[in-house]
Amino acid sequence: MRILSNQRFSQIMRVLPVLVLILVNSSLIARNEIRYYNIYFAAGDFKNKNILVIRKFEQEGKKYYIGVDPDNIETLIIPSNQIYVEPISWPQILIQYNNTAFIRAIQAAKKQSFSLQNSGIIHGFRKGNGVSLTIDLCPSNKPLDRIIFTKLIPAFQRFGKPVPIALSITGRFILTHSEDLFWLKGLITAEEISVTWINHTYNHRFNPKVPLNQNFLLEPNTDLNFEILETEIALLQHGLLPSVFFRFPGLVSDHNMMDKVTDYGLIPIGSDAWLAKGEPIRPGSIVLIHGNGNEPLGISDFMRLLQAEKSSIMKREWLLYDLRESLENEFQQ
Ligand SMILES: [Zn+2]
Repeated sequence: MRILSNQRFSQIMRVLPVLVLILVNSSLIARNEIRYYNIYFAAGDFKNKNILVIRKFEQEGKKYYIGVDPDNIETLIIPSNQIYVEPISWPQILIQYNNTAFIRAIQAAKKQSFSLQNSGIIHGFRKGNGVSLTIDLCPSNKPLDRIIFTKLIPAFQRFGKPVPIALSITGRFILTHSEDLFWLKGLITAEEISVTWINHTYNHRFNPKVPLNQNFLLEPNTDLNFEILETEIALLQHGLLPSVFFRFPGLVSDHNMMDKVTDYGLIPIGSDAWLAKGEPIRPGSIVLIHGNGNEPLGISDFMRLLQAEKSSIMKREWLLYDLRESLENEFQQ
């Protein structure tokens, strides 16, 4: 009897830590879990500014909105009890807010949607002497190219920290690169960099054997709702704020897909300077490089460029612009 109960005791002791771990983990997940995440269009005043609401969700039993300031294209998370909103349809927003930078950028993107590649906004503010750097984090088994960040920071931070960068991130990258995300969050917290998170879809499917008009997001049976909203949820669950910027996987889209994506309240961003393709940088360029270990050419081009432009960077003739501010300046009245 005694031996049996000892055996049982040791069995329980073996299982107990595992049980505790499972319980702790599931309670942590449950606490951060985002529920009922969906598109929701409404408008209301928050801190003396008229804000457009584009999403709503619940977290830890509380209700929140994701809002966008239509004048400066900044997103913010607002607890639902801190704002009174009136629902408004997306077509109504397009009409009523047509003079804001947000809707002007959406309309400009829609006009640039008749080619299969590189539709949407491909450059920002042209009157200055800066460019916006966008780094794509497509799904990859390789680690983040940290060298981009470790080289950029000392090159630009003398003109002010944090150094502005836009990262186009996929849900799959978030899923498999938690250490890299942790490292990036450290740089953000230390105010070394500021990041605009661009939605680059969740799966970013690609089939090298299929023509472009049926590839990437144009693949038949693509669940666009999942691709867009799950990426936003993944960002939020990591404590990162989604922007209203979107980048088509492979920069591939058609007119119909452009309309569908902008109907989520998102601004598709292309590039007029994909460095690995040898495209030159001009004032206001939206520069594209890949940071997922798959495009060493673009990275080395960018490093060479930094070296070549060193003296103009020193003289502030060559600056890095925050993508959001650059588009705000380009599209404001
Ligand atoms: Zn990509």
